[in-house]
Amino acid sequence: MKKALIHIVGGGLAGCEAAWQCLRAGHEVRLYEMRPHKMTPAHSTGDLAELVCSNSLKSMLPDSAPGLLKGEMQALDSLILEAGAHAAVPAGQALAVERTVFSRYIREALESFPGFKRIDAEVTELPPVGEGEAWIIASGPLTSQALVDQLQGLCPDSRRLHFYDAIAPILETESIDESIVFRASRYDDSGDGDYWNIPLNKEEYEAFVDAVIAAEKMPLHEFEDVAYFESCLPIEVMIERGRETLRFGPMKPVGLIDPRTGHRPWAAVQLRMENKEGTMVSMVGFQTKMKWPEQKRVFSMLPGLKDVEFFRYGSVHRNSYLKSPDVLNPDLSFKTAPRIFLAGQITGVEGYTESAAIGLLAGRAARAKVQDADFLMPPAGTIIGALYRYVTEGGLGDFQPMNANLGLLPGLPKQRGMGKPQRKALQCAKSREVFAAYLAQLSGSSQNYQQGEQGNAQAGL
Ligand SMILES: Cc1cc2nc3c(=O)[nH]c(=O)nc-3n(C[C@H](O)[C@H](O)[C@H](O)COP(=O)(O)OP(=O)(O)OC[C@H]3O[C@@H](n4cnc5c(N)ncnc54)[C@H](O)[C@@H]3O)c2cc1C
Repeated sequence: MKKALIHIVGGGLAGCEAAWQCLRAGHEVRLYEMRPHKMTPAHSTGDLAELVCSNSLKSMLPDSAPGLLKGEMQALDSLILEAGAHAAVPAGQALAVERTVFSRYIREALESFPGFKRIDAEVTELPPVGEGEAWIIASGPLTSQALVDQLQGLCPDSRRLHFYDAIAPILETESIDESIVFRASRYDDSGDGDYWNIPLNKEEYEAFVDAVIAAEKMPLHEFEDVAYFESCLPIEVMIERGRETLRFGPMKPVGLIDPRTGHRPWAAVQLRMENKEGTMVSMVGFQTKMKWPEQKRVFSMLPGLKDVEFFRYGSVHRNSYLKSPDVLNPDLSFKTAPRIFLAGQITGVEGYTESAAIGLLAGRAARAKVQDADFLMPPAGTIIGALYRYVTEGGLGDFQPMNANLGLLPGLPKQRGMGKPQRKALQCAKSREVFAAYLAQLSGSSQNYQQGEQGNAQAGL
């Protein structure tokens, strides 16, 4: 086996996971981490894989998207999940960890490889990639400015780099009452338009505006002193400009006829498909910084959303991420620099586990490339494969950070007598089957498992 040197920028969740995958394959790793010498606005230690906010890695329930993702990552030898199991504290169905124990476990596991070296430095420049080497950029949502400038150089168009997320909620289509919410595109009343439309009368609109004004909002951190893009304003900011602003903006009813009344509604919210199956829809123009329980409460007031379920809540926060589908190859390397890979949240995923998952894949893809081998990416029917596909191919709408959710998986047709929980369980069971087949394919491929075993032996694991 060719032993190579892999440089990784960022000792967060993704960088550590990528480092582990490369070390286990027998490669040398240089991990560059700027903390504690240069801190980000959210981190508070120099520890590897610091969890910046909550200590929860979300649900472990096998029939949930976070649960499925954990199972898949465990099967792919994830260090982050191994550390999670070691540092777990009681948290019901969730995996919550004691953060210092979690970080220490990860540091010790990486340091157990003689080929591992942590370099305490900010990477401000990406040097030319040496013969037989690779770089993985895993510098996260708070990437330092100097590196942002470097990344801009790898993207032919600077609009491929985003600094803020102002994201709108994504809803489960099935939880919407279609006796109220109607399908139509503007000026097209054929009944099979591309949008779902929530019609509001004047009283409903006024009550909704009052509820948004009164709702609790997420406090923006000092470093999130956001200069909003005019085309991407949160709904609260629009309402501050006047009670009618929404009705002339994202809630404008023009070109829509409510089939129940035969008239144009006073206002309307449009929902747009997020996947081809139409199982996920986003609220068009509904970026918001209301707290999550408030989003649930306030949006459930909208006609037809009484029992709505959220795949993702809206939010506004600083987040550097690339428009990956435009700038990355299918193996997560840059189109402009095929030996430089991107990993973690900066690829356009969101969340600790999701970021680690893309770190895992980038690590495996990089280790394959330095050996002139192919790495078989997981198929779309698995959660990790669905996330990976989202990053490299995008969805139907604008490219915005995505978390692991069941809406990313192929949907199942409705079956008479089968309730939603049963259908979800079946969807998860199918996904596990797809993943098992993928694992079987991988184990038939010597590049992955023989290398892994060699790494284990070297580290004495
Ligand atoms: C304020 C805030 C709160 C969050 N809360 C949650 C939450 O509760 N739950 C959740 O699941 N997710 C949360 N997230 C998202 C979470 O931080 C990420 O999903 C996850 O940490 C991303 O992992 P990563 O490895 O991609 O980046 P990070 O974990 O941020 O790691 C990137 C590392 O790169 C380093 N770095 C940056 N630039 C350079 C450079 N030029 N040279 C060297 N090193 C560099 C940074 O110091 C950092 O250690 C939050 C994010 C923020 C900003």
